[in-house]
Amino acid sequence: MSTKPKELKPLIPPDPDRCQAKVPGNGPFTMGGPIGNPKNGYRVRCENRADVIITEDEPGPDGLRGSMSLCAECLGVLRKQQPAAKITAWKKDT
Ligand SMILES: [Zn+2]
Repeated sequence: MSTKPKELKPLIPPDPDRCQAKVPGNGPFTMGGPIGNPKNGYRVRCENRADVIITEDEPGPDGLRGSMSLCAECLGVLRKQQPAAKITAWKKDT
């Protein structure tokens, strides 16, 4: 068996219009709203408007610094879940 290096996915550019966070969606036993994919825990893309663009302060293992757009709500969740995350949030100019 050979160990093939993992192929690096190209970075997804931030979407200036819509938050790119994945939020818990509805499962098959809940009513209304979008139903997420069971393969990723029924998570769906956040429907909110993007408020900030976040950028990693340091490049990841792939040598690239990722960035994505988030709404204020999802940024709050991220800060709470990963208080040590080295990211910079840039206020989006509208
Ligand atoms: Zn969001």
